[in-house]
Amino acid sequence: MTEPGEQSIRQAGQCLCGAVRFEAVIADRAMGACHCGMCRRWSGGVFLSVACTAISLADPDAMGIYASSPWGERGFCKNCGSSLLWRSKDGAHLAVSIQAFADPGAFPFTTQIFTDEKPACYHFRETTRDMTGAEVVAAFAPGQDR
Ligand SMILES: [Zn+2]
Ligand SMILES: [Zn+2]
Repeated sequence: MTEPGEQSIRQAGQCLCGAVRFEAVIADRAMGACHCGMCRRWSGGVFLSVACTAISLADPDAMGIYASSPWGERGFCKNCGSSLLWRSKDGAHLAVSIQAFADPGAFPFTTQIFTDEKPACYHFRETTRDMTGAEVVAAFAPGQDR
């Protein structure tokens, strides 16, 4: 499935039930956590993701898409409900859940975003680059709501 030399960036993933299977091209082997209210409701936790440049689905019809904002949408398994990815509608950004990959531990934890929306009842102990929602919007989507 992987070409020599590409093993480090192309990784297979799947949802809980296996109806959605994909191969993603990892852009940056680093994990980010999003504490925003939408990610928390959608994922049932904190959305832990890795930036990817592309994803190919074995069966595109198995994944549902929910447009969560004017410029962002979320992919999930239509059968088991697994939260799989967030992407910007313009295709500029794609964040795939680390939990969908066989070895989520392969991605060092580097960034936390929407830290101002994080519930006070939990904290991660890792030292990361932390950004508030306003800082994220300013960096990635100036002039827009998420
Ligand atoms: Zn599934
Ligand atoms: Zn979020």
